[in-house]
Amino acid sequence: MQPFDSSRSDDGDFVACCRERGIKPTHQRTEIYRALMATEDHPNAETLYATVKQRVPTISLDTVYRTLRLFEEKGLVLRVSTAGDSMRFDGNIGPHHHFVCVACYKVRDFYDDDFDHLKTPKTVSRLGEIGSVHVELRGICNDCRKQKKKKSKKPT
Ligand SMILES: [Zn+2]
Ligand SMILES: [Zn+2]
Repeated sequence: MQPFDSSRSDDGDFVACCRERGIKPTHQRTEIYRALMATEDHPNAETLYATVKQRVPTISLDTVYRTLRLFEEKGLVLRVSTAGDSMRFDGNIGPHHHFVCVACYKVRDFYDDDFDHLKTPKTVSRLGEIGSVHVELRGICNDCRKQKKKKSKKPT
């Protein structure tokens, strides 16, 4: 099974991807997927719902949740494990890593060959079998750093 190439994400590809994974490519599902692929923000279900609702006014939040869960189950999207307290989703299923801002919970993708091929410690085999390696770096994003600087410059 080929990973879905998000750089060429037209609906034809989406339909083919769905077929491959046994998902029915309904109109609503196509819109949800398109909305997720259109952003690098790793949105949560509520944010996606707000976006998709503009195009599909009849859609419900529950449908968005169920669709995302289905996509995740079928390997079409990934769930971002730790970013704030809401579930966040990632349409980028190729090997990549995340920078998470601990101030605004923004999640950005980055790519690194070395991280892709990290040697996993032997001790991990006691815990289970490794399927993939994903590195999450945490810190303060540049936007938040700039804002902090602005704030600290203000006379108190
Ligand atoms: Zn930030
Ligand atoms: Zn990502």
